[in-house]
Amino acid sequence: MSSSQPGVVVPAEVVIDLDAVAANAAALCERVPGSALMAVVKADAYGHGLVPCARAALAGGATWLGVAQVPEAVALREAGIDAPVLAWLYAPGSDLSCALARDVDLSVAAPWALEEVLAAARSTGRTARVHLKIDTGLGRGGSTTTDWPDLLAAVGRAVASDAVELVGIWSHMACADDPTHPTVRRQREVFLDALEAAERAGLRPQLRHLANSAATLTSPDTHFDLVRPGLALYGLSPVPHLGAPAAYGLRAAMTVRARLALVKDVPAGVGVSYAHAYTTPAATSLGLVPLGYADGILRHASNAGPVQVGALRTRVAGRVCMDQFVVDLGPGASAHVQAGDVVTLFGDGDLGVPTAQEWADAAGTISYEIVTSISGRLPRAWAGTDAREWTR
Ligand SMILES: *Cc1c(COP(=O)(O)O)cnc(C)c1O
Repeated sequence: MSSSQPGVVVPAEVVIDLDAVAANAAALCERVPGSALMAVVKADAYGHGLVPCARAALAGGATWLGVAQVPEAVALREAGIDAPVLAWLYAPGSDLSCALARDVDLSVAAPWALEEVLAAARSTGRTARVHLKIDTGLGRGGSTTTDWPDLLAAVGRAVASDAVELVGIWSHMACADDPTHPTVRRQREVFLDALEAAERAGLRPQLRHLANSAATLTSPDTHFDLVRPGLALYGLSPVPHLGAPAAYGLRAAMTVRARLALVKDVPAGVGVSYAHAYTTPAATSLGLVPLGYADGILRHASNAGPVQVGALRTRVAGRVCMDQFVVDLGPGASAHVQAGDVVTLFGDGDLGVPTAQEWADAAGTISYEIVTSISGRLPRAWAGTDAREWTR
């Protein structure tokens, strides 16, 4: 594990298998034969690397990219990616002209946003490409159904003046990870009503979109013209209680691993790490893993997070610290485990290593948070057939 600084060796790394990202995109495309695939690559592609993952997803069959923030969309354009991009989250006073100048589509859910988009259209001389967002029941972003008619009227005027092109009408789901939850059907109905209201107002978007990863995998009647999976693209299951990634033809793309920084024998009854939250039950060998919460290894995984060292599966012993944590390798392990041996925190479960989902269970969270927490302190290495081209 070497870093970009010659002669400097980093003790840990994150490897991203871009072939897995491309194959996951292809598997998702196959699942939605009548719909386009928008690869959601916000938050540095859920920690996997924005630009390489965007390229891999496009190679796998995605035709759209989705991000939260405008700067994320701009970064895609700066990398030379010219696929359609939608950015959906900004606050008043953002410079939207930089989005319009780069052909970035924007979400609009309120009059002030439409005003700012129109200002950007005037200043750039461009027609703004807009996706109108309706809150169908998530209770987060989007126009309320009460405000929807006025928003449609305002957009209708903007379209008539050629300042705006209505590309999409869209919404986001609250409980798609529970496909039988009544809100799933309800949100679809509210969405259909919102589309009908648009139609009555003379507005016909090219694209209607609603589904995230969970809905893409489990609720076909939410697919409409385009689906917006994020998590599934990276080979993690948004519905772990219903199926592991392999059940959906998906493969985890991220592997986090390190080299043991120390292996030592200790007697029974030794308190391990801060506050002695773990005490050795017998004479044993301890291993020191040079990763901690500053690297994004959640402190909530103390005494719980699983790791793989060779054929041995063990877990975090005691507290996760800022830069390091300890594992109990078991009695006599120092005879065959040494400092420098590779310890894998998580990766593709089918290869016999722990998964991000197991870390999520250990830390009382979701796999989304496990992968997006992995910090920029850890160098990413991108692997895969076309990795060189996709990371250029
Ligand atoms: C993050 C996000 C997605 C992707 O969600 P996943 O559950 O990762 O598939 C889709 N749409 C919106 C609006 C999002 O914020």
